[in-house]
Amino acid sequence: TNPKPAFRRVLLKLSGEALMGEEGFGIDPKVLDRMGQEIKELVELGIQVGVVIGGGNLFRGEGLANAGMNRVVGDHMGMLATVMNGLAMRDSLHRAYVNARLMSAIPLKGVCDDYNWAEAISLLKSGRVVIFAAGTGNPFCTTDSAACLRGIEIEAEVVIKGTKVDGVYSDDPFKNPEAVKYDVMGYNEVLEKELKVMDLAAFTLARDHNMPLLVFNMNKPGALRRVIMGEQEGTLIKA
Ligand code: UDP
Repeated sequence: TNPKPAFRRVLLKLSGEALMGEEGFGIDPKVLDRMGQEIKELVELGIQVGVVIGGGNLFRGEGLANAGMNRVVGDHMGMLATVMNGLAMRDSLHRAYVNARLMSAIPLKGVCDDYNWAEAISLLKSGRVVIFAAGTGNPFCTTDSAACLRGIEIEAEVVIKGTKVDGVYSDDPFKNPEAVKYDVMGYNEVLEKELKVMDLAAFTLARDHNMPLLVFNMNKPGALRRVIMGEQEGTLIKA
């Protein structure tokens, strides 16, 4: 096996749902700490890790709007949900003796730092994990868009998206047992086949800036490390 990591700086996108584990809502501390440990392993390999965290385990603006709430207010709640997840992740990393900072696109004085591009890069260079919360700071956006945006900003070599499945499939593998998994794909192939990797805004941002995307199963122990070591794991999407 290849002992050298395939990447130097990565942007890891974790969905809020990933933190939920088997629970229907909120954060499962066991799952949170397991993810913290996996991130710690990357830091120990010398990888610079930026993390964008979702909020779907708590609130989604779209869901709140469907229930009658104003969409912008719902999205504000969704973004604050990502800050809560970010606080939990920072705490988990600190308990695991990993230096981590939490930066929010919405200023929350006394709770976490404000997002600052230059500071984020200098923290990453000094081995700190930087967690980016509150998405892009704008309603009608997703944390997948935030992941691609921050990934491009910090000049990550790849945006790694943790999901519940092993990668990108020709069809929903939970519903169709015939679905086949792709190992490597081009951006246009994903668009032509109308495969759901991310929302279109996020996906085209990545494509337009030539940011490779790697989709893998966050629930599979050790999979993140294998991704980082450049072993065949998940699906890589690139030009
Ligand atoms: N959100 C937003 N702008 C952003 C990112 C997120 O308004 O740039 C809100 C939106 O309401 C979204 C919620 O935050 O539903 C949680 O984010 P997301 O659904 O992307 O979380 P995930 O699915 O990754 O858990």
